[in-house]
Amino acid sequence: MELQELRRDLERLRERALADFAAAPDLAALDALDVAYLGKKGELTVVLRGIGALPPEDRPQVGAVVNAVRSAIEAALVERRAILGTAALESRLGSEAVDVTTPGRRPPRGSRHPIVETAREISRIFGQFGFVDYEGPEVEDDLTNFQLLNIPPDHPARDLWDTLYVDIEGYLLRTHTSPGQIRVMHAERPPIRALLPGRCFRYEAIDASHQTEFFQVEGLMIDEGTTLGDLRGLLDQFAAAMFGRDKRTRFRPGYYPFTEPSVAFDVECVVCGGVGCPACSRTGWMTILGAGMVHPVVLQSGGLDPERYQGFAFGMGVERISNLRHAVNDLRYYLEDDLRFLEQF
Ligand SMILES: [Zn+2]
Repeated sequence: MELQELRRDLERLRERALADFAAAPDLAALDALDVAYLGKKGELTVVLRGIGALPPEDRPQVGAVVNAVRSAIEAALVERRAILGTAALESRLGSEAVDVTTPGRRPPRGSRHPIVETAREISRIFGQFGFVDYEGPEVEDDLTNFQLLNIPPDHPARDLWDTLYVDIEGYLLRTHTSPGQIRVMHAERPPIRALLPGRCFRYEAIDASHQTEFFQVEGLMIDEGTTLGDLRGLLDQFAAAMFGRDKRTRFRPGYYPFTEPSVAFDVECVVCGGVGCPACSRTGWMTILGAGMVHPVVLQSGGLDPERYQGFAFGMGVERISNLRHAVNDLRYYLEDDLRFLEQF
């Protein structure tokens, strides 16, 4: 082939390609042209292959021309692709327009678990009397859970707590929040006003009023001259804040190894108002918590002199309080993770 002729053909090829690109209506058409000119069997590729047939002295010149044409075609392709791409984007933006003035979709919002919510309400009420929240470990040692609370290894009172032991000698899952009393006494000096909310564990046959896992809030106050009257006054204020000012309250004798004397604190039945109903076993009263004056042995366990300091402690089941506030009649609901139950709070 004549050199001049080849050069002219290449120039025409370039012009035709550029004209085709400019006329391509969309990206798909442009892709097809890309293949037609630059693909494996494309027009320019075919010319490129023909160079081998030229005399060796002509090849560099032709090669230079082919490369120049190739660069021009590629550049035109890139440019047209950008234009068509922008146009496609703009048309899409036009059809998928977002109305920024439309109100957003509200994401589903959870709520506090009734146990957490009730425990916080208890903390809030006692917080007004200066009680501060403390935290104790759920895996407790036998010494703190029992012995320092005046419950020695062979004491029959241990029968009150069906204990779950862990695989480490001397450790167990705490059966109550009372060991927190010992921990607070070791960590703080009187006057002490501590609240210990937390999870407890017992080996129980599960039914509507028993769970192997439950929540308690323990309270402890220690100072010089603290009396049972202070305890009664505080608990009356608590009952009024939690269940209403009109509710009557009473102390009954109770028994705990770590308090002396011990009492049960009752509030007038919130269901029947004291007349008597199935919810209160027809007594008109509901037992809210157990309490008492801290036993001198327990004060000594906490490193305090019982001759100088007195204190009271109380402990309540959070589920019990929550049941009364929300009219729940089965403990098992609290740990079943059933949204139909939880969404009510
Ligand atoms: Zn009742």
